[in-house]
Amino acid sequence: MEEVVVLIVGAGPAGLATAACLGRCSVPYLVVEREDCSASLWRHRTFDRVKLHLAKEFCALPYMPYPDGTPTYVPKQEFIKYLDSYAEHFCIKPRYCTSVESAAYDEGARRWVIAARDTVAGTEIQYVVRYLVVATGENAVGRIPEIPGIESFPGEATHSSTYKSGGRYAGQRVLVVGSGNSGMEIAYDLASHGADTSIVVRSPVHIMTKDLIRLGMTLVQHIPIKIVDLLLVTIANFTFGDLSKHGIVRPKTGPLLMKSKTGRSPVINVGTVGLIKKGIIKVFGEISNIIGNKVEFGCGKESYFDAIVFATGYKTTVNLWLKDDKCMLNSDGFPKKGYPNHWKGQNGLYCAGFARRGLAGISMDANNIANDIVSAVDFLPD
Ligand SMILES: Cc1cc2nc3c(=O)[nH]c(=O)nc-3n(C[C@H](O)[C@H](O)[C@H](O)COP(=O)(O)OP(=O)(O)OC[C@H]3O[C@@H](n4cnc5c(N)ncnc54)[C@H](O)[C@@H]3O)c2cc1C
Repeated sequence: MEEVVVLIVGAGPAGLATAACLGRCSVPYLVVEREDCSASLWRHRTFDRVKLHLAKEFCALPYMPYPDGTPTYVPKQEFIKYLDSYAEHFCIKPRYCTSVESAAYDEGARRWVIAARDTVAGTEIQYVVRYLVVATGENAVGRIPEIPGIESFPGEATHSSTYKSGGRYAGQRVLVVGSGNSGMEIAYDLASHGADTSIVVRSPVHIMTKDLIRLGMTLVQHIPIKIVDLLLVTIANFTFGDLSKHGIVRPKTGPLLMKSKTGRSPVINVGTVGLIKKGIIKVFGEISNIIGNKVEFGCGKESYFDAIVFATGYKTTVNLWLKDDKCMLNSDGFPKKGYPNHWKGQNGLYCAGFARRGLAGISMDANNIANDIVSAVDFLPD
């Protein structure tokens, strides 16, 4: 058994940012991470060509900007390098291969009791902690929708989190399901590698350029969001033309308002739209059924595929281990309270990185959590 003042679960950007903010205030903490490295999502579960979708000024963690010369849209490897130097700069040394399996609050002792497993030694560890920070990520495991007949599909059906590159799909008929940023970029990657590529676009989607989003995120700090959205949509319509004839329609709510209300990000075009317009990437609506290699769509069309990539989002896993009687989280593992009050539960429970606001949201959470713990004066063990 080990007594700890603050236990941070997860050594992704949110866990590292919270550790840095606590460390600056001399609050003792321990970061535990189930994998053998920090930022495992970025090292192991993102595709090769991915870059941060947002400009670097919106993606820095607290108290450390990106080094001079970093590209505006940070490539995956440079982002990992930044996170490594962040951990080094703030002397953050996570305890790796330590997977938290349960956490419950002991009212009598006024402490959280955490059961964790050392995945190398196979031993159990118990932590008794005053403050518990959940930083296990919104993207813990891939979500694959239930589709009638999927079990009959004979080809490879994978989630985007295991997709690396289109190289090995050359010449194959590949269907990408999902038209968020990952789906659109994977479709582009597949087509660029010579796969016969199709994409399912089920719901309305805002297609933008990265520079438009950067402009919008800058303007919205000074101008009402609805006006900024109107400007963005007008320029985007002018840039991309009417995409409805290609099966892509815009939502009625503007891109920034939709992101802030629902967490759904606008899609940043990496070249996919051009390939859709040329007919190189085909667009389909919702899948209704799969029979062997044949995929049937709601509109009555059907087509044959060798592989399917599901870019259909992620689930959190926190509800599997957090026994939270006060119910900070809903059944999907997201905070019940909306932004900006989402980060704090009861009895010293916090979550970092669950605001659906990316790295900017993570920075806000980390600062809020550290300030709250510091102001609670009893952070030293009694
Ligand atoms: C492809 C992609 C591109 C993105 N681009 C941007 C962008 O441009 N800008 C932006 O702001 N955001 C972006 N995001 C969103 C988000 O900022 C990142 O995903 C970020 O990595 C989230 O950090 P996190 O620490 O909350 O979660 P994660 O990075 O998922 O880290 C959580 C950590 O917790 C660990 N863990 C989980 N369960 C346990 C357990 N039970 N015990 C111990 N450890 C555990 C995991 O192994 C993991 O290392 C992007 C996301 C993706 C997938």
